[in-house]
Amino acid sequence: MITLTTIADVRAACDAARAAGRRVGFVPTMGFFHEGHRSLMRAARANDDLVVVSLFVNPTQFGPNEDLAAYPRDLEGDTAAAQAEGVDVLFMPTVAEMYPAGARTTVHVDGLTERLCGASRPGHFDGVTTVVAKLFSIVGPSRAYFGRKDAQQLAVIRRMATDLDLPVAVVGCPLVRETDGLALSSRNVYLDGEARQAATILSGSLYLASEAVVRGQRDAAAVRQLIVDTVGNAPQVRLDYVEIVDAATLEPVDELTTDTLVALAAFVGKARLIDNVTISFPAGVPTPDLGVLTASSGMQIESA
Ligand code: AMP
Repeated sequence: MITLTTIADVRAACDAARAAGRRVGFVPTMGFFHEGHRSLMRAARANDDLVVVSLFVNPTQFGPNEDLAAYPRDLEGDTAAAQAEGVDVLFMPTVAEMYPAGARTTVHVDGLTERLCGASRPGHFDGVTTVVAKLFSIVGPSRAYFGRKDAQQLAVIRRMATDLDLPVAVVGCPLVRETDGLALSSRNVYLDGEARQAATILSGSLYLASEAVVRGQRDAAAVRQLIVDTVGNAPQVRLDYVEIVDAATLEPVDELTTDTLVALAAFVGKARLIDNVTISFPAGVPTPDLGVLTASSGMQIESA
């Protein structure tokens, strides 16, 4: 694995690979790697010839009162983890390298960015789409891998790639959870013992909601209320939002009958955490996708 810090060097490495007929796979990250990040690297390693991972804590996707300065970092651990996953190029640019003075261009995806996290984090998705568009342009990947943990981000990036005719396949990968259901996140490091325990109510509420849908509930308001009531009992947890939306357009739905995203955000202790379940309806049968547990093959939902 080589570690590169300049755009020119990454371009040269990716150009050389493509010239030799090798396909480039790309995983954009903000570092502090856990199994979620590593699962994306493994997917890229399995599918592509040159695997490029970017590690850049992108300042433009943080609001003024958010945790940019405190965001956890571990360059040594991350380098070792990327190496262990067979990554070829680790790209760690500085802020000055990514945003030279005079830059005036941003990428904005309309509509999809207004609800869910977009409502409570104004400007966040413009930061995300702008940096991902730049990274796509630098790396030139055939495939780029994103976790379904950030379901809205995935939908927004897919829309951007379609709308801008970007020659990259955007691949969504399973949400990876701790064995007790908590979605892995770099921000879980902010949780002390009690908050960490309390945080399990988030995935627990999504599990209950999924079960209700499997048992026949289709009313979005009722499913939403079930989550609000479940989380409402937990100490240290304050819901930011619970939304039930079309999985592709992110428009609110009244009934769960086609692919639906049930997404929430909550403040738990010092952390703001997100979680979600996507419920699809192959042949009309509700099929929740809660992702995978780190230490087992999957999180099973019992049918009625
Ligand atoms: P981040 O470093 O938080 O910006 O995340 C980088 C990539 O890792 C994004 O595509 C995330 O969706 C993905 N990711 C983060 N946490 C998880 C998780 N628990 N399961 C699957 N993917 C994840």
